[in-house]
Amino acid sequence: MVGAGHVGLYAALRLSRKLRAREAEVTVVDPQPHMTYQPFLPEASAGNISPRHSVVPLRRELKRCKIVSGAVTRIEHSRKTATVQPIIGPPLEIEYDQIIVAPGSVSRTLPIPGLREHGIGFKTIGEAIFLRNHVLDRLDVGAATTDPGTRRRALTFVFVGGGYAGIEALAEMEDMARDALKYYPELTVADMHWVLVEATQRVLPEVDRDMGAYTVQQLLKRGLDIRLDTRLESCVDGVVKLSDGDSLPSDTIVWTAGVKPAPMLDDTDLPRDDKRRVTCLPTLQVVDGDKVLEGAWSAGDCAAVPDLTGPPGTYCSPSAQHAVRQAVRMADNIRAVIRGKEPVPYKHKHAGSVASLGLHKGVAQVYGVKLKGPIAWFMHRTYHVSRIPSFNRKVRVVIDWTLAFFLRREVVALGQLHDPREEFTEVTPRVG
Ligand SMILES: Cc1cc2nc3c(=O)[nH]c(=O)nc-3n(C[C@H](O)[C@H](O)[C@H](O)COP(=O)(O)OP(=O)(O)OC[C@H]3O[C@@H](n4cnc5c(N)ncnc54)[C@H](O)[C@@H]3O)c2cc1C
Repeated sequence: MVGAGHVGLYAALRLSRKLRAREAEVTVVDPQPHMTYQPFLPEASAGNISPRHSVVPLRRELKRCKIVSGAVTRIEHSRKTATVQPIIGPPLEIEYDQIIVAPGSVSRTLPIPGLREHGIGFKTIGEAIFLRNHVLDRLDVGAATTDPGTRRRALTFVFVGGGYAGIEALAEMEDMARDALKYYPELTVADMHWVLVEATQRVLPEVDRDMGAYTVQQLLKRGLDIRLDTRLESCVDGVVKLSDGDSLPSDTIVWTAGVKPAPMLDDTDLPRDDKRRVTCLPTLQVVDGDKVLEGAWSAGDCAAVPDLTGPPGTYCSPSAQHAVRQAVRMADNIRAVIRGKEPVPYKHKHAGSVASLGLHKGVAQVYGVKLKGPIAWFMHRTYHVSRIPSFNRKVRVVIDWTLAFFLRREVVALGQLHDPREEFTEVTPRVG
């Protein structure tokens, strides 16, 4: 199993439960010791959920699997061999009968001057924690400075990309910062400048236009600066230059403009499409033209899986909704093939999307039903708590929400986390 994210964790759980020990040994390789439930990242960043509770520890949940802490760096399916770089020690080769390729995706970035130096993505728990501490830290800077330019720069937050990750991250962070201002008498809401830069004419392409327009209206009402049809042109030294001619100094540039398949796939002999995704049949078997690669399977963000509910030539979107369902179908298909039966095609009509826009605010479109405001927000929470793996995580998340409801969320920056040795290094004498 290459990767233990939405696909890998669910597939490993199902395989280890449905196959007998003498039929298979399941080996899971991932550099992270946990699966990250990405739909909870915005809430983890905003302090409604503890970051530890939005991840699922692999060794605790996958007790019947062998866990290898490392990255798969190469797959030679012609030799049925994967090369793994463990987190320590020399690379090792693992031979397999069946491989599930599910390393997911990474941020799809562009060669924009300054982006590499000043931008940050929003796909990992580390990025979510960093952003939370950084935003709260910028409030401290804004409150401490007497220089209007420094304050403006510290309190300007730019998000690039208006899909659900970008919109949720922006809306949740703004909501958190607005809440935190209660403790900053030096600052007012008008001092903050939250900007969304989106290259197309709409946000949330996963829902209908009217729901996207509603979302924009809600954000505008809250005083956010929404720039549609606008691109980020550069951000050298933190000066954000936009295609509409505007220029905004900012310490915070969050890039949420789409994803691309994990780069490790470049070092494999697996077939790929023009978007660099692994080409699959609806059964989730890897296919090269019309030749099925026996023993190779893929799903999730890194795979091009035909969408049997859409017009011919369409593929399943990169979403948790497809990833977890594909994982279960794939595990059942692997079991079928091992037992000499036929695999079954994956078919699921995308049910829609639910997005949180901050506490008690949301937008949802599920099976054609459109919901707005608190009811959509409540649906977002109930849907995702039902999807996060394990009873243990569900209980922890609900307790976090309940505590935040009664005691208010914590809005304190733990910026020291990002450089914990600084003070100790300063007070410890050099030797020699
Ligand atoms: C902020 C945010 C919010 C989202 N909200 C929603 C939502 O509301 N609804 C929805 O449907 N979808 C949502 N998504 C999308 C959803 O999370 C992804 O589509 C889903 O995670 C894809 O699952 P995956 O298994 O393909 O990849 P992932 O879950 O990303 O898992 C990939 C795993 O592979 C591992 N890996 C990477 N490289 C290697 C390697 N070389 N060797 C071994 N392991 C490797 C990674 O460490 C990771 O654990 C959101 C995404 C984000 C970022």
